[in-house]
Amino acid sequence: MQRWRSELKVRSQNEEVNANHFCILTSDFCILTMSSDHIVGIDLGTTNSLVAFMQGETPVVIPGDDGSNLVPSVVALGESSQPIIGNSARRYLIETPERAVYSIKRLMGRGIEDIQEELKLFPFRLAEDLQPGEVLRIKLGNHTSTPPEISALILRQLKRNAERYFGAPVTKAVITVPAYFNDAQRQATKDAGRIAGLEVLRLVNEPTAASLAYGLDKKQNGIVAVYDLGGGTFDISILKLHDGIFEVIATNGDTHLGGDDIDNLLITIALDDIRGDLGVDLRRNAEAVQAIRKAVIEAKIALSSQPSVKLDIELPQGKRYRREITREQFEQLIQPIIDRTVGPCKQAFKDANLKPEQIDEVVLVGGSTRIPKVRALVKEMFCREPHTDLNPDEVVALGAAVQANILGGGSLATENMLLLDVTPLSLGIEVAGGVTDKIILRNSTIPASATQFYTTQIDGQANVAIHVLQGERELAKDCRSLARFDLKGIPPMAAGIPRVEVKFLIDANGILNVSAREQRSGKQAEIQVQPSYGLTDEQVEGMILDSFDNAEEDFRKRQLIEARNETETILAALEKGKKSPAWGQLTTDEKKQIAKMEKALAAVNKEDDYQAIRKAIDALNQGTTRLAELMMDTAVSSALKGKTMDETDLGEGTTAPHPMAKAEFK
Ligand code: ADP
Ligand code: MG
Repeated sequence: MQRWRSELKVRSQNEEVNANHFCILTSDFCILTMSSDHIVGIDLGTTNSLVAFMQGETPVVIPGDDGSNLVPSVVALGESSQPIIGNSARRYLIETPERAVYSIKRLMGRGIEDIQEELKLFPFRLAEDLQPGEVLRIKLGNHTSTPPEISALILRQLKRNAERYFGAPVTKAVITVPAYFNDAQRQATKDAGRIAGLEVLRLVNEPTAASLAYGLDKKQNGIVAVYDLGGGTFDISILKLHDGIFEVIATNGDTHLGGDDIDNLLITIALDDIRGDLGVDLRRNAEAVQAIRKAVIEAKIALSSQPSVKLDIELPQGKRYRREITREQFEQLIQPIIDRTVGPCKQAFKDANLKPEQIDEVVLVGGSTRIPKVRALVKEMFCREPHTDLNPDEVVALGAAVQANILGGGSLATENMLLLDVTPLSLGIEVAGGVTDKIILRNSTIPASATQFYTTQIDGQANVAIHVLQGERELAKDCRSLARFDLKGIPPMAAGIPRVEVKFLIDANGILNVSAREQRSGKQAEIQVQPSYGLTDEQVEGMILDSFDNAEEDFRKRQLIEARNETETILAALEKGKKSPAWGQLTTDEKKQIAKMEKALAAVNKEDDYQAIRKAIDALNQGTTRLAELMMDTAVSSALKGKTMDETDLGEGTTAPHPMAKAEFK
């Protein structure tokens, strides 16, 4: 029996009373949530992360401790070096910014040369000894961690939220990634899942997940555009629906565009104002900048629903910055930012060979699409009213849950649904003259495979160098280098005679395998592409071990706290029971037995062994079953006589129903 998920429900006077505080209950009254192998869907966002699952045929977001569905993607290192995640980590951004990190998704699968822009805008603190080509390491207090390890902490928090919700372990997940993520970024996300103790069944493009959440498959046929403007990334995807099946026919976007850009613009304006009006330069004052960031974000969000907002920020040395911003001013300020979404949309139309008028549905995703000006722009660009029924922050996680359900065997509602994704960038190899020869074109449906044949340039050439590239540019030096390997030992032949078959295979997660085979000799070489900034398998294994070591200790501590809380509750309930009329109905022997078990529980509760405490709680629960029945009889009959549960013995200690978050349909 899973005690801590058991609930007692008694209806009295049309009110549902829910008591889940202790378990001196008969099993008749216990409504148990059976543990089942839940596969969760996770939106690992730049700004916010969420976990969802399929409850029957409805995807549902699982809230955290604080009741909020969004877990801010912020990680901090607490005073005793314990990781702190989400809302509670936010205050560290201001108080001890050197112990906190946000927007880590921007660094996933990237190298130092890729992130110069981010380093200007974000307070990332990199380890000093980083070499070009090395996996990044971020300083958090005295520790350094790689981006996948930091993301894993966020994933572990989501995993824990789900485990608490289900009362059972969660080990499998579907995680979403921006459609534009390249191979290295996808690998890094998978690594983060593994480090967090999650088997990542599938990486799904965020816009694809969103279209699933909207259940647009039920429309059977049509063209859907998904416009996703979040905190850090912009994605536009065009999906084709035929016979209820989704096919992503084009994706485009900007990995560097979103609400963060709006925030940074407002911060810059505030800092300039402050320098001009108050004569203080706060640009290097991290604490003040964070305080300004918090205030402008609040203002921005308010402006989505009200015509103007007053900024009032407390600054160092008792100074204040006050300014009123109207929605009109705000819209003018952000116009250049939101206009940057137009180009990628046009390119996506072009790639899909469609005109805007041919789009049947437009879906809005991402918190920044709450801005009325953004909605207006989308409406204008796509010549129609966009869908806004689902909460734009949650829609990706909800869709991930739908996908998880499909992979888990699915329900009737989803089992016929098939998902097709595309590869966001072309993949190919370098050929003579430093030219890129594309083998799989971007926007190809994945999983995909393609083969091309090559030959040698020099007589007797024994080795062929295969340089794997990603990107749209013609010259190899302008594309991203993914891997290099050699096909060796080709028997001597005249130039142009060998027939080298190069095969590219992209799996359903967008991860690439390349093989090369000389057909006349049968010589073969192959490689699973290790992205340039990826972690090796050994590194990931090491990180998994580290995190499990900690996880075990964390788990033990949590169990002990929970067991002790339960002891307290059950002993208090027993005290109450002793004072109730039901107590008098027990035999002397029964009372003696209970006293013995009570003593045993009190004794073991002083030790650190949570399993022993649980055993003693179980025993006392068993031993007090008849007392509970007698008390229930009294309670139910009082309720029937017109008293509410609150007025009866059992009523006290009643807690609110366990939150069962529903998808928000506005
Ligand atoms: P991500 O996918 O990048 O994690 P989200 O979809 O959670 O991002 O969107 C977060 C962004 O949305 C943030 O920049 C946040 O400030 C912005 N945002 C959230 N609500 C609103 C709102 N009501 N008006 C304007 N921006 C909003
Ligand atoms: Mg998002």
